Amino acid sequence: MMIAAAQTDTRMSHLTTLEELKQHISVLAGVEETDAPFISCYFSLENGPSGWRDVLEERARTLRRILKGNDLADLEQALTSIEDWMTANLLPQAKGVAIFVRGDFGGSFMLPMQFAAPLPNWIAVYPTPNIYHLVELKDNYHRYLLLHAMADRACILEVNLGAATIRAWINEPELRTRVGKEWSRSHYQVNQSHRGDRFVHGKIAILQQLMRSGAHTHLILAGDPEITRHVRQALPDHLARKLVELVPADQADQQADVVMATLARFVEHEEQESRTLAQRLIEGLCSQDLAVAGTTATLDALRWGDVDTLVMLNDYQPDPGWICTACKTIRTEAPEASTCPCCGKEAVRPLDIKEALMRLAAQSRCPVEVVQKCDALKALGGVGCLLRSHLSRKETSHAVAAVG
Ligand SMILES: [Zn+2]
Repeated sequence: MMIAAAQTDTRMSHLTTLEELKQHISVLAGVEETDAPFISCYFSLENGPSGWRDVLEERARTLRRILKGNDLADLEQALTSIEDWMTANLLPQAKGVAIFVRGDFGGSFMLPMQFAAPLPNWIAVYPTPNIYHLVELKDNYHRYLLLHAMADRACILEVNLGAATIRAWINEPELRTRVGKEWSRSHYQVNQSHRGDRFVHGKIAILQQLMRSGAHTHLILAGDPEITRHVRQALPDHLARKLVELVPADQADQQADVVMATLARFVEHEEQESRTLAQRLIEGLCSQDLAVAGTTATLDALRWGDVDTLVMLNDYQPDPGWICTACKTIRTEAPEASTCPCCGKEAVRPLDIKEALMRLAAQSRCPVEVVQKCDALKALGGVGCLLRSHLSRKETSHAVAAVG
């Protein structure tokens, strides 16, 4: 089973990669609710490695007062699992942790992750996993290739969800490279005319190779401004299009500091990309009917399966709606009774609309852009989506009404 596989894979201690995170989000978005509570637990480790204990204990005190019977037994079991995992597996470089747990009564589930990127302190008890913070982390940190160019050598690193791994070293004197574990003579075409050019072209050849093999979409050049400028000028078009930024660094700078400087610039760049998409959404609304905005229209579009990209403000906080767990009817207004007006069953429960949108997007593998600030999107309700085809809003909601 998929869930069991995810469970065993992540028992070992390592920083979760972007590829793993995508799979985990997909697994979590597919978890069906049971009668038992599902616990989604996020910890920030930025202010020290032990602050999580206080966060967990404080939340546990409140939850123990609210939950009863099997739910309480499940909670205790989940709290023990969380504490055991944190004690045994936390890596020193971890800045954020996410653990998703359900106890035996509800169908046992445990999926822990740790990241070099930060997460907030936040613990939710809800029928299904709360995945918003994972989706936001994925959008903000993603991954990129970094060329750190120094006078006589260069290092190429992959920065994956904030964690840097060295992919290649390139030395100037002999133009020897180290890719992976083996040293080997470079096999790329070199420019014979000039030693400096050879070095620049050597770096670009390896960059190209790594960008292609890793299917990378973003590149940052860091180091001596003179050198990075040369590399930039020599970049072929397809790499130049993926270039995010030139980040200056001194010869004496520690590599970890250079990585942190590029990471900050990358997060800003991602926010700019998100704002550009929000702008496209507004234009789509105005001119071509290629977008919808507002909670209800966005929910309808996601259920209809016509969404290209979901765009959401990070402080989007809609009022709860409701879902009928029997016939799966979803409404964005507050529930008025526990009986479903569609099927007549006593199966209505409150619905976290933001999480419902996250689940629908993840189930259909629809990309999500989280925007920190966009006044126009805020005025439209804080959420919207770009559509794949020119369906009008009216057609979309009719079609959904027919399905629902
Ligand atoms: Zn119903």
